[in-house]
Amino acid sequence: MQATMMNLPLSLNHLLERAGTLFSGNEIVSRLPDKTLRRHSYGEFYRRTRSLASALQGLGLQKGDRVATLCWNHHAHLECYFGIPAAGGVMHTLNLRLSPDEIGWIAGNAKDRFLVIDDVLLPLYRQIEHLYKFEKVIVFSFSGARVAPEFTDYDALLAAASPDTFTYAPHDENDPVAMCYTSGTTGRPKGVVYSHRSTILHTLVASLGDFWGLRGTDVVLPVTPMFHANCWGMPYGAVMMGVKLVFPGPHLHPDDLLDLIKQEPPTLALGVPTIWMSLIQTYDAAQADGSPNKGRWALPSGMKSLVGGAAVPESLIRAFDRHGIWILQGWGMTETSPVCTISYPRAELRGADADERYRRAAMAGVPVPLVDLRVRGDDGTDQAWDGKSVGEIQVQGPFITASYHEVPVDAEKFTDDGWLRTGDVASVDELGFVRITDRTKDLIKSGGEWISSVDLENALMAHPAVAEAAVIAIPDEKWSERPLACVVLKPGQVATPQDFNTHLLKHSFAKWQLPERYEFIDAVPRTSTGKFWKMKLREQFKA
Ligand code: ADP
Repeated sequence: MQATMMNLPLSLNHLLERAGTLFSGNEIVSRLPDKTLRRHSYGEFYRRTRSLASALQGLGLQKGDRVATLCWNHHAHLECYFGIPAAGGVMHTLNLRLSPDEIGWIAGNAKDRFLVIDDVLLPLYRQIEHLYKFEKVIVFSFSGARVAPEFTDYDALLAAASPDTFTYAPHDENDPVAMCYTSGTTGRPKGVVYSHRSTILHTLVASLGDFWGLRGTDVVLPVTPMFHANCWGMPYGAVMMGVKLVFPGPHLHPDDLLDLIKQEPPTLALGVPTIWMSLIQTYDAAQADGSPNKGRWALPSGMKSLVGGAAVPESLIRAFDRHGIWILQGWGMTETSPVCTISYPRAELRGADADERYRRAAMAGVPVPLVDLRVRGDDGTDQAWDGKSVGEIQVQGPFITASYHEVPVDAEKFTDDGWLRTGDVASVDELGFVRITDRTKDLIKSGGEWISSVDLENALMAHPAVAEAAVIAIPDEKWSERPLACVVLKPGQVATPQDFNTHLLKHSFAKWQLPERYEFIDAVPRTSTGKFWKMKLREQFKA
């Protein structure tokens, strides 16, 4: 039998056309640098995006050419998400939190032809222009100020283009649409390239009911940067369903986010644990009698929240649930589009008590459809899904990268049979729940036994006096390595190492697993994507 279904390519352009046809009245809200809100309809989004694509073709963009973005989360960045691929190009989101040197290096490695940049980020551009020369710099006047004549004005470019006569660049479903670099916490950043096909499949899977559960009536607040792992793919899902989007722009301080949440209450919000931790601590502090912010904010009860990118402490999940907000944790990486596992309430857990539900929610979750996942032990065999045996997570699937941009496939990153080696160490239980214990390079081996830094951190962060805790390995003559806990206390709180040890022993840690030493620090150093930067702590406390 040969004839089956129509052989049409999976394509992002279909999502754009669908949005233009079905959702033209729906809303996209962007917070501007002056904190006012700009409102667009999906109809405008559709026309502006086609204008952008048409203009890029007019500028000579060829199939497969990279167009970089250096932008906050807002409507124009969304236009780039769809307009650059519509013109046949590859959107390359640059991470504005990296050092200028790194941004310049990454743009050069990707050979970006054009750059789309927010005017408010031009001071950053001034620090990279001598490192890499883009053919054209297209400035989006996010602040409303006039664009200097040395640059191309984004809005003028769109105004001069004709959305009606635009035709999509011919494409195959395996053609590239977007590119992100890994944040390089383990070496030089490497480019990961996504295709129409991988993006559509990832969008469909992540949008399923138990995961994002996107509905047309949703109001989605993406706090996760659009320059990090494609904002977890949410922009694609949002446009597929025409949901109302609320973009926070550059205002990610907890006070600002809480103001925005009050103004435009979301039904679904996504962000990394760091920001969510400060959000809930600020909100809870505001409830206290005498707080200057008492009554200023309201968290929308019933809102769902997606949190991932780093371990989500159970204490954080409980803190949000006290306000009727349920956190769904996801695990993944730039290489995996990124969603690989999501922790959701499985049928088998119906009737489970609250403690059990929280315990599960604090795990990385269950592999999503189309992702094959295995845990390889040191001896090279697959570990049993018994909740105890640990090894490296390896994954394969149609939205998992098969290589890095212009880097030879190496054995450190891929297995002989083509699976991605994630560098994350985990166990999986009988229900398929993955529990991340560490990254390979963060493991602590004490007297021949592994101690999970993530477990210690989560338990410490459940202590009422602790705002944040990061645990690293320090060299030890007798035990080879021992855990060192770096603790940030909440304002006005006091606690001693003895208090923490008592607390950990109550949380079923054995005596030999307790930190060897505690260091009180002002803040945990962060990577460009807001994760604990343990390398910095290791350097600081090496001695
Ligand atoms: P990088 O690998 O360069 O830091 P990514 O953003 O791709 O950049 O990070 C992916 C990594 O983040 C994963 O390999 C894992 O170590 C960590 N991570 C992501 N989600 C979780 C999670 N839910 N729990 C624990 N770690 C996580």
